[in-house]
Amino acid sequence: MKTAVRKVTENYGKDKTRLMDILIDTQSEFGYIPREATLQIAEDLGMSEVDVDQTISFYHFFSQKPTGKYKIYLNTSVVANMMGMKEVAATFQKELGIKFNEVTSDGLVGLFETSCIGMNDQEPAAIINNRIFTRLTPFRVKEVVRDIKEGKDVDDMFVQDYGDGENRSDLIKSVVSNNIRKIGPVLERNFKPGQAIEKLIKLTPEEVIEEVKRSNIRGRGGAGFPTGLKWEFCRNAKGEKKYIFCNADEGEPGTFKDRVILTERPRLLLEGMVVAGYAVGATEGILYVRYEYKYLQQHLESILEAARKANYLGKNILGKKGFNFDIRIQFGAGAYVCGEESALIESAEGKRGEPRDRPPFPVEKGYLDMPTVVNNVETLCAAVKVVLNGGEWYKSFGTTESTGTKVLSISGDCRFPGVYEVEWGFSVTDILDMAGAAKEDVQAVQVGGPSGAIIAPNEFGRILGYEDLATGGSLIIIGNKRDILSDVVLNFTEFFIDESCGSCSVCRIVPTLLRNKLVKVLNARGVQKDIDDMYEWGRILRASRCGLGQTAANPVLSSLKNFRNLYEEKIQKNKDFDSGFDLNNAVKESCKATGRVSNI
Ligand code: SF4
Repeated sequence: MKTAVRKVTENYGKDKTRLMDILIDTQSEFGYIPREATLQIAEDLGMSEVDVDQTISFYHFFSQKPTGKYKIYLNTSVVANMMGMKEVAATFQKELGIKFNEVTSDGLVGLFETSCIGMNDQEPAAIINNRIFTRLTPFRVKEVVRDIKEGKDVDDMFVQDYGDGENRSDLIKSVVSNNIRKIGPVLERNFKPGQAIEKLIKLTPEEVIEEVKRSNIRGRGGAGFPTGLKWEFCRNAKGEKKYIFCNADEGEPGTFKDRVILTERPRLLLEGMVVAGYAVGATEGILYVRYEYKYLQQHLESILEAARKANYLGKNILGKKGFNFDIRIQFGAGAYVCGEESALIESAEGKRGEPRDRPPFPVEKGYLDMPTVVNNVETLCAAVKVVLNGGEWYKSFGTTESTGTKVLSISGDCRFPGVYEVEWGFSVTDILDMAGAAKEDVQAVQVGGPSGAIIAPNEFGRILGYEDLATGGSLIIIGNKRDILSDVVLNFTEFFIDESCGSCSVCRIVPTLLRNKLVKVLNARGVQKDIDDMYEWGRILRASRCGLGQTAANPVLSSLKNFRNLYEEKIQKNKDFDSGFDLNNAVKESCKATGRVSNI
């Protein structure tokens, strides 16, 4: 074991800032991260064992005990549940003879739950040994379990079906279809790699920044910070080296557009990183990709290699003396909070993905304390088109405050889930029409994932854009048959509980209190005071340190605002207090756990 671990640490120059890669490779070698390996890594990197443990314990996909030769991670998010996840989960448990979070006694299979894996347009879905299995049914699960028991390689368990995918590399092993339903000026097909770089090198970096500022493009991750301004701050910041990060950690449940871009338009994205690198004066780009998309690794590496051969990356790019820029891929290991830019940087430095206090902002002091730009996948793709066609051209799409287009991830109760590129300024009703959902069958739309808002039909006329309802692009359509409180609000609140990094007490505690209150209401034990408490406590969360905590109460608060009747229907009237403790139920549960017979 020692030699194998040493080989891994040496591959990364025994650099402790590459701890994430070292842990990912170690886990891939042994199936988990054994204690001996942790000790060896600590010794090789000159770190304490506790520091290595801290990083391991932070991420969902790292394990310090064996998790089975086949590791099954079933997505249990809201849309998976809508599409039949519970039957799929029950079939996995029955066929394998284990419950979730268990490993079969022969060590063959481990069964685990995970939050949204970016496949909302084809749920229920699972990751098995880094391969994606979509549209699972109980029948399909039986086939998969049979294949596992026969010892088949995971790549031989499905027929590859690329659907209408394009630019697809043979190196992608999966049955994922990318469901691009509407293409606009950013994702259009006629982009030729190198086009923007050729134009770029005839401009000065300042001219590029001016053009991007003229376009008024704002960050597409959800926060909407002006991209040109961010680049200018970074260009003007002092530092020996500068970095461009592409944030492809899309962990917001319901979002999958970045997955589609990484698969179908990777050359456009990489060119966007080159554009940003030139403008800012950076020499290194880091494409931070969520671990759930590990199946895209070979595909992305091959695109990078081709770009190097064409001198779109490397030294003196396309003959421009001194224009040096290259890109490496950094995988995460399962942590929603790493979508926050400073947490993402911490993670890329090999640490726990805990958000930093700001200021200083990453543009001044980011990766390895150097000036760093962190941009969303979609923002970088749009920047290429701005360089090619000009800021004025880009501004001709969309609205005054929200220029250009937005790539949406639409899922839930509709006929055509998938990715749509539309001009800003559309209404929720337009979206329902596009996605094939009859307005009368829809009781709510979740805009912007759990951290966004759940809106009712009386708001379907609202316009999506920074002027009214901003969104990172996730829209989940919730049909009339769904129970908003138990199917959506409870699931999202539990998601935030799982994903809090735990460093602020308010974010560590209040979501759990909200969940407990919600369960009390759902169990018909709630009273008016519980609703009032949820409202007050939810507001307290807004004082949290980062966006995760600040928005963790949104499922409760926005449903209280728009669907208060659902809470009021369930609470006890004419009662001021109820502890929520159900003695009969507690005795029954206890008897069930201990195998005793209940007389109640
Ligand atoms: Fe961590 Fe939550 Fe605090 Fe953000 S708000 S830093 S996720 S504890």
